[in-house]
Amino acid sequence: MSKKDDFEIPGKKLPLVEEFFTLQGEGFQTGRAAYFIRLGGCDVGCSWCDSRYSWDQDIHPLVDTEKIIENVLDSGTDSVVVTGGEPLMWDLGYLCKELKGHRINTFIETSGAYPLTGIWDWICLSPKKNMPPVGKICEVADELKIIIQNKNDFIWAEKYKDLVNKDCKLFLQPEWSKFQTIIPEIVEYVKKHPEWRVSLQSHKYMHIP
Ligand code: SF4
Repeated sequence: MSKKDDFEIPGKKLPLVEEFFTLQGEGFQTGRAAYFIRLGGCDVGCSWCDSRYSWDQDIHPLVDTEKIIENVLDSGTDSVVVTGGEPLMWDLGYLCKELKGHRINTFIETSGAYPLTGIWDWICLSPKKNMPPVGKICEVADELKIIIQNKNDFIWAEKYKDLVNKDCKLFLQPEWSKFQTIIPEIVEYVKKHPEWRVSLQSHKYMHIP
């Protein structure tokens, strides 16, 4: 295939921030070993974002997707989590097709602010008020994860609970810097609304990436 073709196939190169083999720390898949691929670029602008270093896509090198897949396979993992930044700024069809070809489970963490691409075994949708989800991602999301930093966020959570499909798993996750003040509110909320579960950023307690 010529170099020209590389540029004509979307997703043959991706802006890679970092990649690492660890455990999923959050949500339904907590504790599962997975290879994380963090892609650069995000204009959603969450005030509490803990991966701001990923926002500027231009400072992260465009890496051959084939090379990323090679690294995944070298790790020996059976699962990949694609995160960001906002990974759906990029066409992920090629990455997923190749990973599925190697029987790798594909998981994504997304705000849904850009159109869905790729073939996913698990879609974790974490909608943000600044740039709400587009398209039909609510219909196919496997997991809804709402970050809670104040009481108004429970209203946002309920709005999206009504938009996702009936099988979607529902999680409330305390914003890390507000943990001490907001966790009692979340606990009381879940006791009254047991369809929700609490998600904690367990990787931060385990001191793993
Ligand atoms: S969508 Fe994610 S990466 Fe983007 S600003 Fe919000 S928390 Fe950060």
